[in-house]
Amino acid sequence: MQGAIISIGDELTLGQTVDTNSAYLSQQLVKRGIFPRYHVTVPDDRGQIARAITHAAQTVPVVLVTGGLGPTEDDLTREALADAMGVDLILDEASLQHISSFFARRNRPMPERNRTQAMHPRGAEAIPNSNGTAPGIKAKLHDTTIYVTPGVPRELYVMFEKTIGPELDKLAGERAILTTTLHTFGQGESDLAARLGHLMQRNRNPTVGTTVSNGYVSVRIRSDFPRKLAENELNQAVHAVKSALGAICFGRDDQTLPGAVVGLLVEKKLTMATAESCTGGLLGAMVTDVPGSSVVYVGGWVTYSNQMKASQLGVPPEVIEAHGAVSVETARAMAVSARERSGADAAVSITGIAGPDGGTAEKPVGTVYVGLALRDRARVFLLRLGGDRETIRDRAAKSALQLLRLLLMGEKTTGVTWAEEQ
Ligand code: AMP
Ligand code: MG
Repeated sequence: MQGAIISIGDELTLGQTVDTNSAYLSQQLVKRGIFPRYHVTVPDDRGQIARAITHAAQTVPVVLVTGGLGPTEDDLTREALADAMGVDLILDEASLQHISSFFARRNRPMPERNRTQAMHPRGAEAIPNSNGTAPGIKAKLHDTTIYVTPGVPRELYVMFEKTIGPELDKLAGERAILTTTLHTFGQGESDLAARLGHLMQRNRNPTVGTTVSNGYVSVRIRSDFPRKLAENELNQAVHAVKSALGAICFGRDDQTLPGAVVGLLVEKKLTMATAESCTGGLLGAMVTDVPGSSVVYVGGWVTYSNQMKASQLGVPPEVIEAHGAVSVETARAMAVSARERSGADAAVSITGIAGPDGGTAEKPVGTVYVGLALRDRARVFLLRLGGDRETIRDRAAKSALQLLRLLLMGEKTTGVTWAEEQ
């Protein structure tokens, strides 16, 4: 089964209010196995609203409309729905009772305008609103069921949970849409698409698609099947996608990269320390964002100046002098010293040029070295990052986490194209 969502309001089309209701309504449909075919947003214009409703009713069997049920001149959804249905508006006595008692409870006279909220198209029914004055409306147009809800999110939520959701549960029947997301870091979106190959073909079910956010590439999987089969189909697709992605896949749904690293350290009973320069503590912040990280994270150094790298971490000044603060040698010395001085099993160092100034022909902005000292072995990776200062610092910290994770898993980093071992 398919549904459509119509959100209404000038504030939405003008970009003053973000349309969170449509996202909520879509999630509610998906949860019930009803595929949201499209969203449309229209301003407070009676003709446009009526046309959007007419079109949706010709296209899908379930239409969810949100907004424009208020008591003011610009709330026109009631009238527009009546236009689309070709009927007049009638007063609903029970709704009027509800609205007047709403005001009575607050010891206020009911403004005349609020009477209009008790109106609905002939043949429709009112949906009770326990969080406000405007009732919702349920109507039929051809064979399509239309639910109209207020725009105020908390009124919408309660109406959905109490009345509309349970009705849709019955309507939805035997199909289920299940979704899950796998997260990766390190490879670009087109590289991943190449790895996923035929799994991403548009006509497949489950469908597989990628999205990018803050350097992470996520793979969304959606399985749309009869309820009995949906879960098994989803699991099979997850398995296939995971094998295609390999070790760069660090988690699913709510799992995060720092969370995956902390989890791995806990599992292996290992501790870690950090030594940061250009990221200024970002790596330590990401690790300590994870609840329970105190079990594995002992602490770290933020050594921005050469002098601090020498005095606090113990990087030999001649190393910095000979090779520079941004170099394989300094990154290695930072990691090794941090491991020794902290007593942790692993230490991660980051030193690089975040820009916008400070780049040279040999070491342009975005040149970052990540040092990883794990037990008696230290390795250094070169990253060539793009973007502005904030992006470079963010990707440097995330790369360090991913490299540590791969190393902890004993994964060969030879397939890693985004970090060159030095
Ligand atoms: P309305 O029912 O159109 O009078 O909307 C009342 C208020 O709810 C508006 O002023 C907005 O602040 C909010 N609102 C309306 N539509 C949405 C929406 N689609 N997403 C989030 N908030 C909304
Ligand atoms: Mg409005």
